Amino acid sequence: MQDIQLIINRIHDAMVPRLGEGKVADYIPELAKIDPKQFGIAVTTVEGETFVAGDALVPFSIQSISKVFMLTLALGKAGETVWNRVGREPSGSAFNSIVQLERESGIPRNPFVNAGAIVVSDIVMAGHQPREAIGELLRFVQYVADDDSIIIDNAVAKSENATGYRNYALANFMRSFGNLHHPVEHVLGVYFHQCALAMTCSQLSRAGLFLANQGRNPLSGHTVVSARRAKRINALMLTCGHYDGSGDFAYHVGLPGKSGVGGGILAIAPGKASIAVWSPGLNKVGNSALGSAALEMLANETGWSVFGA
Ligand code: GLU
Repeated sequence: MQDIQLIINRIHDAMVPRLGEGKVADYIPELAKIDPKQFGIAVTTVEGETFVAGDALVPFSIQSISKVFMLTLALGKAGETVWNRVGREPSGSAFNSIVQLERESGIPRNPFVNAGAIVVSDIVMAGHQPREAIGELLRFVQYVADDDSIIIDNAVAKSENATGYRNYALANFMRSFGNLHHPVEHVLGVYFHQCALAMTCSQLSRAGLFLANQGRNPLSGHTVVSARRAKRINALMLTCGHYDGSGDFAYHVGLPGKSGVGGGILAIAPGKASIAVWSPGLNKVGNSALGSAALEMLANETGWSVFGA
């Protein structure tokens, strides 16, 4: 049995001298205000135990990590038909790129680039008012994390809405191709609120646990998705979860993962654990600099990479 607490304490100690590395996302004004010198890590094992170190109990904006939860809801609602409207290939371009979308007639490459996530939100909205779709996502995240105190930070959602010109461009573009079924302002309202979910590393690692345990949350005993679906969501996280840095993340860490511009990363070690790390400074491709380094250390020390020790 590995001593997870010891391992993450060691990782934390290695990260402390590096606090402040990278660049905090400032294109969302509310995120620019965050103190960059923070680092947290939480590991929840499939046995149901959570280990934490550093700022693991400080809520942060999960941003694109929410795309994993929204995709899970969309697959539950629309099943495989999701893939008629969004692809499953790594994009090889920035998370908010518009060029590819034009070439590929408004069908985004995958559900984890912004355009793809906006389509996924549109799918979840079917038959709902925007407010209900946001509520559905919030309740789902509270349910999988088994924590009703999780909230959406409305100031972050508002801040992004005020400056989200590029996401408006992407959404309008897809609407012109008929790949958005609801008004652009409604879909983006839902999308910005999902990105503004505020969670701690500890809550996030528990929320991801069903993906590490064949779709079943071992804490509650509830089956969230089938084992096959969990496997497939993990596959998408591995190939598309880190923007244009997905290959590099697979090379260095070797775990399915999803990062967000708030500096968080959710990583899944199938059959072992769900891991959340957070540090606001981002590297050149937009992934948490210390978060990526911490996960590389964790994968090396535990031998949890899906490609072998
Ligand atoms: N809300 C952010 C955006 O759309 C999410 C980006 C991210 O975390 O990758 O720009």
